[in-house]
Amino acid sequence: MIKSAPGLPPAATGDIRDTVEIMLARLRSGGDTAARDYARRLDGWTGPIVTPRSTIEAAAAQVPSDLKEALAYAHANISAFARAQRASLQDFETELRPGLIAGQRSIPVSAAGCYVPGGRYAHIASALMTIATAKAAGVPHITAAAPPRDGPGIDAATLYAMDLAGADTILTLGGVQGIAAMAFGLFGTPAAAILAGPGNAYVAEAKRQLFGPTGIDTVAGPTDLLIVADATADPGLVALDLAGQAEHGPTSPCWLVTDHEPLARRVRDLIPDTCARLGGTNADTARAAWDAMGEIILCDSREEMAQEADRIAPEHLHLHATALDWWQTRLTAYGSLFLGAETTVAFGDKASGPNHVLPTSGAARYTGGLSVHKFLKTVTWQRATDAALPALARATSRISRAEGMTGHALSAEARLHAHSPTTALR
Ligand code: NAD
Repeated sequence: MIKSAPGLPPAATGDIRDTVEIMLARLRSGGDTAARDYARRLDGWTGPIVTPRSTIEAAAAQVPSDLKEALAYAHANISAFARAQRASLQDFETELRPGLIAGQRSIPVSAAGCYVPGGRYAHIASALMTIATAKAAGVPHITAAAPPRDGPGIDAATLYAMDLAGADTILTLGGVQGIAAMAFGLFGTPAAAILAGPGNAYVAEAKRQLFGPTGIDTVAGPTDLLIVADATADPGLVALDLAGQAEHGPTSPCWLVTDHEPLARRVRDLIPDTCARLGGTNADTARAAWDAMGEIILCDSREEMAQEADRIAPEHLHLHATALDWWQTRLTAYGSLFLGAETTVAFGDKASGPNHVLPTSGAARYTGGLSVHKFLKTVTWQRATDAALPALARATSRISRAEGMTGHALSAEARLHAHSPTTALR
């Protein structure tokens, strides 16, 4: 290991937990009035909460045409990928035994709430990622919420993207009050069955506390990146990809895993100047993130590199290496995989198609990222005809009686008696 750093980022502190608990209780009882009050106190917003069409149109007029083109390109890719996911999830019906028929179907949730963060950066691409995916899933009503920025309301390009992606109602509400408004159905919106989208620690904690009665996509921690690089990697490109990730914030972990020590040393030496190239506060943020959370792990073999990647289970996993097919088959724990130096995490974050709302802090050990599946309920159904009843009722009755569940046994036996009164079960 060339440079060590603390491991996982801290969890929500007690302060944030308590603050969010108090805010949610107040928002639950105080409804629209409490939400307006928090919007004023926390974000200085006293304008309309439900964004009027005239504001959306005024925002669209401000967005430069080249940015509109880029957003149309990204929206087409993200929607096409989400539609392909939807098409891959087929409803089915199967006859398990003669007369015993069961099936599965996927039903979109009735209403979804998509949070689009916007405190530090205008997260324009996040609007496309969550809303377009809910749309492709077939959700009938999508409410989206984003914080007001710098006085005039939601950032114009973000608002344009929210509308482009298909939001039915757009709330100018950030943080806990935005999340609560969607979950509780404030401002005339239908209560969201599921809340999706990234956000800061307050947003993540609000989603965590609401989980249960309301579904959530994930509890997102700080974004992270692991690069696997072999001797063929370009150190300048590796350093640039690491610095780009570190730009997210000073708690964003970045790892370089390599089996080539000269590359490790070269990348380490290039990082300071590469961060400086980002300019202004981005340069300072990236440098601070790398100093606090950056780590270079030197391995002896390709297999050891794969084991390290699987152990860390990063949100983004980028291969600057050869034998990409081997890697694609071997790796088992990541939110999204970027194969080869020709691609970059920035493509996935903004425009290429697969979703950028991904598991962080090692959650890729057990889940993937946001997809149409999160907006769909995969439910099952069953039917039984006379041909299936004797064996089915007999098995059910015997298992139920062995469990001591007489009511279940009687329910099973009654089906049999109703259809074949002369057949004895036991
Ligand atoms: P945000 O929209 O998540 O939060 C802004 C809101 O926080 C404000 O509207 C305010 O109401 C609330 N807030 C701020 N201070 C508060 C306090 N003291 N008490 C109560 N509420 C408070 O925007 P952000 O802060 O810029 O955070 C965005 C986050 O989203 C970042 O951590 C970023 O990394 C993350 N993100 C993740 C992904 C991903 O896919 N993983 C994508 C985009 C953004």
